[in-house]
Amino acid sequence: MSALPERDGQPPAAPPDTLPGAPATVVVVGGGIGGLATALAVSRAGHRAVVLERAPEFAEIGAGIQIAPNGILALERLGLGDAVRAAGVHMAELRFMDGVTGEHVTSLTLTERYRRRFGNPYVVVHRAELHGLLLKACLADARIDLRAATAVTGYRQDGRGATALLAGGGTVAGDALIGADGIHSAVRAQLVGDGEPRISGITVYRAIVPMERVPEELRLPTSVTWWAGPHCHFVHYPIAGGAFLNLAASRDNGATEAIAGVAVGEELVHAQLAGLTAPAARRLLALGEGWRSWVLVDRDPVDGWTDGRVALLGDAAHPMLHYAAQGACQALEDAVLLGELMVQTTELTDTLERFAAERHARTAAIQRAARESVRLWHPAGEDATARNKLLGGLSEDELHEHVAWMHDIRPFPSMDHHNYDGEPWA
Ligand SMILES: Cc1cc2nc3c(=O)[nH]c(=O)nc-3n(C[C@H](O)[C@H](O)[C@H](O)COP(=O)(O)OP(=O)(O)OC[C@H]3O[C@@H](n4cnc5c(N)ncnc54)[C@H](O)[C@@H]3O)c2cc1C
Repeated sequence: MSALPERDGQPPAAPPDTLPGAPATVVVVGGGIGGLATALAVSRAGHRAVVLERAPEFAEIGAGIQIAPNGILALERLGLGDAVRAAGVHMAELRFMDGVTGEHVTSLTLTERYRRRFGNPYVVVHRAELHGLLLKACLADARIDLRAATAVTGYRQDGRGATALLAGGGTVAGDALIGADGIHSAVRAQLVGDGEPRISGITVYRAIVPMERVPEELRLPTSVTWWAGPHCHFVHYPIAGGAFLNLAASRDNGATEAIAGVAVGEELVHAQLAGLTAPAARRLLALGEGWRSWVLVDRDPVDGWTDGRVALLGDAAHPMLHYAAQGACQALEDAVLLGELMVQTTELTDTLERFAAERHARTAAIQRAARESVRLWHPAGEDATARNKLLGGLSEDELHEHVAWMHDIRPFPSMDHHNYDGEPWA
């Protein structure tokens, strides 16, 4: 039997109080999920982090977020595994429905067999819950300095350090700088310079419904449910311990303007999702109020994430459509790997180069897979029938195999095993 991943309270390597040589200071630009996780990982490696966040306070808005076992493993390495397993709703299936015929095409089960194979449950949390767990851990850490209302416009560096340039004209200096400032990253604009993100042409409409308003037979408290239809699909799952149902409906409508969080009326959402005619899907859509819309954006994979003492991480490095439900999980994996490499390598420039080299292929593949997934969900007519036949014919193991490359335990340098074959998590 292979070694088990350590649980909370038994971190893989206790962060040393002092390193051989002086601890480094890492300037982290952005206090989202990726930035806070990076600060924790840097601290666990025995170094200091200064997190610069443009918003007036450290907070996350938005709705639900799915965390696959690979994301939970990364949180475990940051000492937050038990906390996220306790906060999350543990899902039992990814349920695939034909949104036109109402047919239950298949379910990718997430119960014992899945948990045994991937070593952790698949959970959903409110985005603010995940961010809150990371923030609490950062606030409790004397090696982490959190500075809100601090917008960064760029960086400069020399042989001895890297410095963040602030919007107000000040600077914050460190030994290295990590750009974790999201898809519109100022650090990336300087480092890669690839302009504005690509507009996908897909609009997503999101709403949250109190669970008491959802008819009992439609609640499916442990399912992430997909309704697939022509040029559109609709996903729902419970969040906040099951107190709310999170609704996210996508329409491939050729949108050309990148909007974010714009309020839209119910009639518009219902019209955009008219292709979903299955009665249960329509009843669920009808529950949504206070819809907001986003036009999805992403970027093509690039492999130049580093510039000397500066590197990109999370959405700043590899922004992806949310359809693989992996953006945050990948930012967490990034952070853990970076921290572990900081323990192993002494030259920061080498650390950053190795970090980018080890992360590029995996994140690029997920960026591409997230784009490709639309081809599975949006076909119509005979193509949809053929898809249903194909998916419906897959066994439980074959479905697990299909997601294994993303959900499987990612060995970090401190882990000498790839698979978990002990008891599943409760
Ligand atoms: C609709 C939707 C659903 C999703 N669902 C999932 C899911 O189920 N599972 C999953 O794993 N992922 C999901 N994702 C992806 C996930 O949300 C992102 O990949 C993740 O939040 C990226 O984290 P980040 O810290 O890299 O970037 P961000 O979350 O964008 O954080 C960047 C931070 O940097 C700050 N900042 C920006 N510019 C500056 C500046 N110039 N100076 C200082 N601070 C700055 C911002 O204010 C922000 O706090 C979803 C995304 C969307 C849009």
